[in-house]
Amino acid sequence: MPNAPDQTIHHQLHINSYGHYLRRRFGCRVSKVNVDAGFTCPNRDGSKGVGGCVYCNNVSFSPKETLSAIPLEKQMADGMAYHRIRLGSEKFIIYFQKYTNTYGSTDLLADLYHRALDHPDVIGISVGTRPDSLTDEALELLTEIARTKYVCLELGLQSMDDGILERINRGHTRADFVAAVGRAAGRSFDLCAHLIHGFPGESRSDFLKTAHFMATLPIQSLKLHQLHAVEGTELAEWYRRGEFVPLTLHDYVTTVADFLELLPAEIAIQRLYGSAPLDICVAPRWGLKNNAMWFAIVNELGRRGSWQGCRAGEPL
Ligand code: SF4
Repeated sequence: MPNAPDQTIHHQLHINSYGHYLRRRFGCRVSKVNVDAGFTCPNRDGSKGVGGCVYCNNVSFSPKETLSAIPLEKQMADGMAYHRIRLGSEKFIIYFQKYTNTYGSTDLLADLYHRALDHPDVIGISVGTRPDSLTDEALELLTEIARTKYVCLELGLQSMDDGILERINRGHTRADFVAAVGRAAGRSFDLCAHLIHGFPGESRSDFLKTAHFMATLPIQSLKLHQLHAVEGTELAEWYRRGEFVPLTLHDYVTTVADFLELLPAEIAIQRLYGSAPLDICVAPRWGLKNNAMWFAIVNELGRRGSWQGCRAGEPL
């Protein structure tokens, strides 16, 4: 096995963590601060679909403090104070996370993004969206902002299998995702892909092929989490009817370690697991806190003596 690349891979974590990437790029500790800017989603309001993705309950993936009724500036101030005290962060990226954060008029988007960038300690924005909700005007706005600030556009793919995308009611195809990445690439801002592992009908080798697919895309980072069911979702009903059998912790950790070995070291890892408040988490309930999940995966790479990208390009 060759040595891990010196600069890209964090030698204790065995991966190119996004925190490590930001520190290399900006020379200090940078944290992402989540905000809820009051968007909705075209896959929920009827313009693309109704009901949303089968696993979607935005309460489960947003901190409580980021309710859209709270002014953006207050959400930012509270989030930055938290990260300053807890992690010693010096600079911040404001993360427009909840629902579809390009789903609005260009004027609205410009107002929100520029208000976020107004704070002197904010170095950029991260914008989470769907591949089918990206107008040319929104892309131009982000391109303009990226001339002076950091911008990361986060695009949900979740699965590269069109059959799964249909079953989970994503409302877009893999080709839609590839087309959106193509339109957004080469504009001086980062692209991040979102993936989920553990869909019914997805085998371990199906998922590992996704690492090879990611390697073909001009993306700079990636987020991954296990499929988990939370209250109020169609997926929770699937679980109760036996139609969704969650992965075991062991299967998830070992498959993700394999995935990381196959993934090019240049793709920074923003997330490796998902968590939901215990009172709404239905399954799986692995009983591990966030840090323990993260370390379960990096420790697996350590146990193997491997690292992200050590098998990149190898056939499965
Ligand atoms: S695209 Fe995102 S916000 Fe919209 S329904 Fe799916 S998971 Fe929920």
